[in-house]
Amino acid sequence: MTQIAERQAGRESAPSSTERVGHWIGGKRVPGTSGRTGPVYDPARGRLAREVQFASAEEVGKAVAAAKAAFPAWRATSLSRRTEILFKIRNLVDQHRTEIAAILTSEHGKVTADALGEVARGLENLEFACGIPQLLKGGYTEQASTGVDVYSIRQPLGVVAGITPFNFPVMVPMWMFANAIACGNCFVLKPSEKDPSASLYLAELLQQAGLPDGVFNVVQGDKVAVDAILEHPDVKAVSFVGSTPIARYIYENGTKAGKRVQALGGAKNHMVVLPDADIDMAADAAVSAAYGSAGERCMAISVVVAVGDVADPLVEAIRSRLPNIKIGPGAEAGSEMGPLVTREHRDKVASYIDKGEEAGARVVADGREHPLAKGGDGFFLGVSLLDNVTPDMESYKAEIFGPVLEVVRVGSYTDALKLVNDNPYGNGTAIFTRDGGAARAFQFEAEAGMVGVNVPIPVPVAYYSFGGWKGSLFGDTHMYGPEGVQFYTRAKVVTARWPDPGTSKVDLGFPRTR
Ligand code: NAD
Repeated sequence: MTQIAERQAGRESAPSSTERVGHWIGGKRVPGTSGRTGPVYDPARGRLAREVQFASAEEVGKAVAAAKAAFPAWRATSLSRRTEILFKIRNLVDQHRTEIAAILTSEHGKVTADALGEVARGLENLEFACGIPQLLKGGYTEQASTGVDVYSIRQPLGVVAGITPFNFPVMVPMWMFANAIACGNCFVLKPSEKDPSASLYLAELLQQAGLPDGVFNVVQGDKVAVDAILEHPDVKAVSFVGSTPIARYIYENGTKAGKRVQALGGAKNHMVVLPDADIDMAADAAVSAAYGSAGERCMAISVVVAVGDVADPLVEAIRSRLPNIKIGPGAEAGSEMGPLVTREHRDKVASYIDKGEEAGARVVADGREHPLAKGGDGFFLGVSLLDNVTPDMESYKAEIFGPVLEVVRVGSYTDALKLVNDNPYGNGTAIFTRDGGAARAFQFEAEAGMVGVNVPIPVPVAYYSFGGWKGSLFGDTHMYGPEGVQFYTRAKVVTARWPDPGTSKVDLGFPRTR
């Protein structure tokens, strides 16, 4: 177990602020040498927990070189051996769920139950990747021409990189590296600088499972490390998850440098509630999906679109549930919602409540007034509900990424659909109704990559793929699942014949006989 996990499991004293989180290159922890660092906070206490060392371009180069050196042997490793290692990784992650969740809670702030859920959803991706021999099967055509067979194979790309956001420090890396290494690639992870420790804990588990050194590497850092990845000629593909402006930047610069890129961006997910919906079910779903993980989920519901006369009873049903949400430190038993990741982010989220109020929205519940938001040291904000929000408001246009739920009232299904489809983001959306025909129409017409029918957060299981439309994804393939395997491999088609000696002749034309 790492020092961090031991401490989180309560076997060591509190961290000193001088502890440094470094890199993992070629199978060992490597301290940073750039001299540049960033703060890592304990969001529940609002204090500095440790520092993360930011990689220079040279340090990124070392990680890429380690990955490149490991690639020939790893791509030649049999599928059965790769599967065996993945299965061991899967088991080690499973055995260490509690320790991993504790690290997540300590740096991200999410409550323990939610952190355990993140590990569980990440595990699904490792389980999917254990089926890699089946997933990499190609096609075979016997006798395509006389005595000629044609077959297709998929081969790994080489060194691939993942750049990940703060809100899922283990699940999102698993979306990427599970398939990437199963396909035979070597991986360089650049985690979020806000919660970097889980990446090193994962690296140790991967090594313990028998993954050869250099197949998985971690470089901590900021834009300098990201740019070094984008510019490095030996990095063949980049997977990114984060906010839309950075996703666009990664896509434009990565593809310009000749790399394959999939870049998932931000979101503003709408939940449409039709007049015939079960109000209690819709209110339960809206509250869970809006405030879980303090709204710091890319699939969080941030807008409820109330159609017709459902609005008044729905807003009241949501409001009545809010006082029961227990807000507190993520590690404290009974906490249902923890703090936000940093003070700066908390204040930015709160500023959108100010803006909504100033623009005429009705503040039905005000998270700024929560005792922990007003008086505590942690980065807490209570839950907020804004009614009568309109699309021209600043708070509606922004991805708030916090515990703020906005209600937009519309007259008809058509108005609701227009709102969903006019939004520049298209990650997920949901409809709540008892009308199968309306649900089917919505599934057909909604411009979003993931649609829920009476399901507020329709994150696909690992054997489908995850991705949005419009400003929520730049690139052609969705992440993980079958499209992940496609992203991390390239196709090769072989045409072969084995003629008997003495039967060949020179022929300068295209073959005419079949
Ligand atoms: P972010 O865009 O600030 O950071 C993501 C990554 O990019 C981090 O590793 C960060 O170090 C790096 N980065 C930040 N600024 C950079 C810059 N100027 N140049 C180069 N690299 C830079 O995102 P975040 O705040 O960590 O995460 C929250 C965002 O991620 C939200 O917008 C959320 O919707 C999105 N997200 C999307 C999905 C999805 O699947 N679509 C999933 C999770 C999170």
